[in-house]
Amino acid sequence: MVDFTLSARQQELREIARDYAINTVMPRAAASDRIPEPDQSFDWELVRESSRLGLRTLSVPKDYGGEGADVMTLSMVGENIAYGDLGVAVAFDQTWKIMTMIFNLTTEAQRQRWMPVVMDDDTCLLAAAATEPTSGSDTILPYDGAGGGIRMTAEKKGDRWVLNGTKRYISNGGLAKVIYVMARADLSKPPSQSMVGFLLTSDTPGYECTEVWDKLGQRAVQNGTLEFNNVEIPEEDVVGEPGNALAEIGALLTRFGSNIQAGATVLGVAQRAHDVTLQYARQRVQGGKPIIEHQIQAKRLARMQMLLESARYYLWYSGWTATQGKTDARAASLCKVFASESALTVTQEAFELWAATGYMKKNPIEKLLRDALSFIHSDGTNDVLSLKASRLLDEFGPNDPRYSKRVEEAAAGL
Ligand SMILES: Cc1cc2nc3c(=O)[nH]c(=O)nc-3n(C[C@H](O)[C@H](O)[C@H](O)COP(=O)(O)OP(=O)(O)OC[C@H]3O[C@@H](n4cnc5c(N)ncnc54)[C@H](O)[C@@H]3O)c2cc1C
Repeated sequence: MVDFTLSARQQELREIARDYAINTVMPRAAASDRIPEPDQSFDWELVRESSRLGLRTLSVPKDYGGEGADVMTLSMVGENIAYGDLGVAVAFDQTWKIMTMIFNLTTEAQRQRWMPVVMDDDTCLLAAAATEPTSGSDTILPYDGAGGGIRMTAEKKGDRWVLNGTKRYISNGGLAKVIYVMARADLSKPPSQSMVGFLLTSDTPGYECTEVWDKLGQRAVQNGTLEFNNVEIPEEDVVGEPGNALAEIGALLTRFGSNIQAGATVLGVAQRAHDVTLQYARQRVQGGKPIIEHQIQAKRLARMQMLLESARYYLWYSGWTATQGKTDARAASLCKVFASESALTVTQEAFELWAATGYMKKNPIEKLLRDALSFIHSDGTNDVLSLKASRLLDEFGPNDPRYSKRVEEAAAGL
């Protein structure tokens, strides 16, 4: 039986995250959003405070000093931090999901080496670098021709690997001190046989963040271009099975919670849009009564609520399957699609109700709309994730109780 009753600790974490979002993040979010230089908008004090609260390292297992939070708990906390600001939530959510992946793919010796790097520095954030100037969706909907996929190379020289290439749009780029990166060990082989994952620190010679992208939303976090020029990585920092990193990034998106948690963060934006709109609808008077008393606007608010709740429970169901060790891969992709589309619809509806006042930068709605747009593409485009899920649609034949002879006849034109 699926039971979404939150444990006492989950309720406590939700309160901690909500309090942090409303009292610490939100008061700084609007100012941070307006800083024109994209490499100046990140607020390190927010990271230090989250470390004090234990939020930064939530997904690190208890044996290593973290909370050991599962995908559903991380989704819930991520949504609540994003209620204060999406960019700040993304900075932590990236760190959580990459930690989860590292724990699932590394040896005990690697964990003993890498954990102090993460735990002992209260500003240590993580990044995962897959996307390149000529390779985006190829890694998410695996294109397995030798001529496609990522082009960054990893050449084995003795007991070291030498990395060359460029990654772009990477969340926490220029902020992260630990980076997971994927490269090709052999460009003549298909990506499914030639990709290797590595861990490195940001002070590794040859590694540099060369551009922080100026972007529409999520302005509180950085998205960087990362250059690798003859970056040497010791064999002991290869993550997972060499050659198998394409499958491992697929697991990151589904089993290790990336898509589910991404959907949850953008839902936090939509929840904020709903709440400020509910207040506005009760206080703004037109036609002699508060807007909410005009039935079409009351209906609008009810439908916004419906989208928020249904997206949340889809995310929680998907997170629950991951937590049970039997991830519903189709749901894990589609719940991000549904949550991000619902979040966009909710913020657009909010924008409609606020009318001209919502268009003005002094008011909260336009930022929420800009933020909500980011997850239509981030963590895999919704088109590509839907395509991926479509490969997992059920198939059933004449012996299955769902099979209809009449449908067969109709399809044959009878
Ligand atoms: C805010 C933000 C944060 C991000 N953070 C990270 C990060 O931390 N790490 C990282 O590695 N990347 C990150 N990305 C990159 C993101 O994962 C890519 O943008 C995404 O994978 C799509 O790649 P692309 O933008 O190059 O689009 P393309 O892959 O070039 O796609 C262009 C269009 O073609 C469609 N398309 C592509 N392939 C197919 C296909 N086979 N069939 C049908 N249609 C197709 C797409 O749906 C899209 O509409 C981030 C992006 C954003 C916007």
